[in-house]
Amino acid sequence: MKKILILILLISFSTLVKSQVTLDYYLPENITYNSSIPPPKQFFGHEIGEWHLSHDKLYSYMLELAEVSERAVWEEYAKSYEGRPLGQLIISSPENIKNIEQLRQEHLILCDPSRSGKSDVDKMPVFIKLGYGIHGNESSAQNASALVAYYLIAGEGKEIDELLKNSVILIDPSLNPDGMQRHSTWVNFTKSLNNNPDPASWEFSETWPGGRTNHYWFDLNRDYLMLQHPESKGRVAAFHKWKPNINTDHHETGANETFFFQPGIKSRNNPLTPQENYELTAEIGKYHEKYLNSVGSLYFTEESFDDFYIGKGSSYPDIHGSIGILFEQAGVKGHLRETPGGLLSFPFAIRNQFKVSLSTLEAGLNMKDKLLESQRNFYKEAITLADKNHVRAYLFSEPSDNARVSEFISILLQHRIKVFGTTRDITKDGVLYKTGSSYIVPLKQTEYRFIRSLFEPVKEFTDSAFYDVSTWVLPMSFNLNYSGLTLTKETDGLAGSEIISPPSIAGELVSPEDPYAFLFEWSEYYSPKALFLLQKTGLQTRVSMESFVYDDGVVKKSFSAGTIVIPATGQTISGKELRSLMEKTAKECGITVYGVRTGLTTEGIDLGSNRIIALTKPSVAMVTGEGANSPDAGEIWHLLDTRFNVPVTMITAQRLSAADLRRYNVLIITGSPDISPVGLDNIRAWNRSGGILIGYETGNRWLLRNKFADMEFIEETGDGKEDGVYMYRAADRQVQQIPGSIFETHLDLTHPLCFGYTRDILPVFKSTSTAVKKVTDIYSNPVQYTEDPLLSGYCSVKNISRIKGTSFASVHENRVISFYDNTNFRAVWYGTNKVFLNAIFFGQVLR
Ligand SMILES: [Zn+2]
Repeated sequence: MKKILILILLISFSTLVKSQVTLDYYLPENITYNSSIPPPKQFFGHEIGEWHLSHDKLYSYMLELAEVSERAVWEEYAKSYEGRPLGQLIISSPENIKNIEQLRQEHLILCDPSRSGKSDVDKMPVFIKLGYGIHGNESSAQNASALVAYYLIAGEGKEIDELLKNSVILIDPSLNPDGMQRHSTWVNFTKSLNNNPDPASWEFSETWPGGRTNHYWFDLNRDYLMLQHPESKGRVAAFHKWKPNINTDHHETGANETFFFQPGIKSRNNPLTPQENYELTAEIGKYHEKYLNSVGSLYFTEESFDDFYIGKGSSYPDIHGSIGILFEQAGVKGHLRETPGGLLSFPFAIRNQFKVSLSTLEAGLNMKDKLLESQRNFYKEAITLADKNHVRAYLFSEPSDNARVSEFISILLQHRIKVFGTTRDITKDGVLYKTGSSYIVPLKQTEYRFIRSLFEPVKEFTDSAFYDVSTWVLPMSFNLNYSGLTLTKETDGLAGSEIISPPSIAGELVSPEDPYAFLFEWSEYYSPKALFLLQKTGLQTRVSMESFVYDDGVVKKSFSAGTIVIPATGQTISGKELRSLMEKTAKECGITVYGVRTGLTTEGIDLGSNRIIALTKPSVAMVTGEGANSPDAGEIWHLLDTRFNVPVTMITAQRLSAADLRRYNVLIITGSPDISPVGLDNIRAWNRSGGILIGYETGNRWLLRNKFADMEFIEETGDGKEDGVYMYRAADRQVQQIPGSIFETHLDLTHPLCFGYTRDILPVFKSTSTAVKKVTDIYSNPVQYTEDPLLSGYCSVKNISRIKGTSFASVHENRVISFYDNTNFRAVWYGTNKVFLNAIFFGQVLR
């Protein structure tokens, strides 16, 4: 009996100590460590894996290692929204570190086909980037980075010397500092001294929205292509600065999984990525196999995850001559956790991440020449492939909106794509591309493959399942005019001077000294920013419901519906102050403001018409917290806060019963918040007295369920199969999903939700299979899917016919507005942002 008790005690004790390991648990045997380099415990005050490192601790350790060692330097490349530094610890032999700039320059020549022929790869080091924890709550990744850095900097002996002599290693310890800080705070704050592995424990229920995302709740591992956040802008700049040959991306997956390393699903590899990339990934995989075998960890490859969407950490490198590798370790999301496969400890997860970091380095060293050669060939091949491609160049323009064109060009330039102005006017696909406001991107350049992925619509796929979106045609998300040029006679001599920085979006005031009123068009991207700025200062502002032509001899222009009118009289500030405010606003927002002399127009309504309606400043609240959809809510918050300076009151479902909603005139619902009956009554009373309720994506089901609006969803009817094979059940379901595709909608340009658009066709992004019938009031379906709506991406024939002719946005009775799909997707859908902003600014004028 006594023996059994001792045994039980021993087992329980071993359960506890499992999460309190020493450095030996992680590090390879038979290696000595330089005692002048502080090991993690000495620096942090605890062993790796005992507590979760916060970002500031991890960052300080990297700085310390760079400070005390001749093998390393720290390079900062960005600051997060919350001001946390992002950077990489550059590690190599002391000799290489002294010459690091020269080594970098020589390495970059490999990516330049005009110079790469003479490089001797045999004499060059391989460049390896190890990237950890872009999802902030996948902590085994970031915590492992401290161990890898210590091992490389303190480790002694022939093996490490050989590695450092032949490689330059870039350790990016935390790819999402703000998310990491949030998550580490959570798991440390809920940790007990006696680790409790019960999965029901509070420790494993991180609060909304969790630490996966960045400050505005964006998944940074989708932003490598869109570059809308400081973290990714800096990281992609650092990628091009160093062009690593291998680029790892360390993640965590569900607690009940094992360990995944790439290659992923072969049929879903992006066809623009060379086949060789997949093979090299598999060859590197043999090293992960060896290292994970050495500690007996279970793992799998090829049956999950894919590199189709090229805006992720493991796929962006693949289309840039590098080998991107995704790792997915079963996530503890705490310190010790029961799983069907036994106890999963935080140190165990960290050790696996550490092991595959070392296996990557060994693979890099052994495959050095092959990897460098592959990089050189990748860029050489780009030029020859471009010669065979039927499209020679892409042309684009958007004369009515400088800001969108400028941001679009900024993204291209950050990806090292060459853009040129045009030398002559050209008409293509019925659009006149005027010189001065049109641009051309020739395919024959080193980023040939990447350019195709950004510009080319795709509707045919070898596999109907996707880990992420199925398309990302960038000019469509910006709603630009764009065309592919296929004939040499069209492209010959068309490229003028190279655009080396995005065109400036300088605004101006065109006005007499003492104007009667000021006008500006709504078509400019930042017009809402200007309007809000003016409203904030207390100005009387109006919107024109119709177009008109104005000609006072100086200003001669046709103004569209949606034009903002600011009368000079009736304001609380003097004419002189008003004029200087208008000038400041025009410059700050990059728009053109016109001062006009009189109220009579030459065509259409006059400036005193009652079709020019007075506006009230929007005061926006959005239901946030548990129940709300965090990506949708984050995109809305980011849009209003960072681009338009419009404050959003983020209010929890619980507070809505007691909140004084009269403070707001717009309330946005995403997801399915759990609002009490009292809260619902509060919203109903507010809505009846004039408040505008916006249902966004899944928020519309909530509106319907709570009887705020009537809408008819067209439910899916299955794939029509009468019998199924069990093994294919998941694949059969995926056939009917819309993983993220681009569709065409038609706009009613006279409707206030469509003010500011100059063309009645608008590409939109759709990532759910929702379809909703048009509302019965035929004047209230301003944005509808066309009859042949698929522009790019995957969608089953059955779904296309279900979606065609349905509503993208509709207006219900009682000032309720529905957006059934996303207008702000990943912050890069500049083209559809305005429909959403119109609901906020002009929802009040809907009758
Ligand atoms: Zn992840």
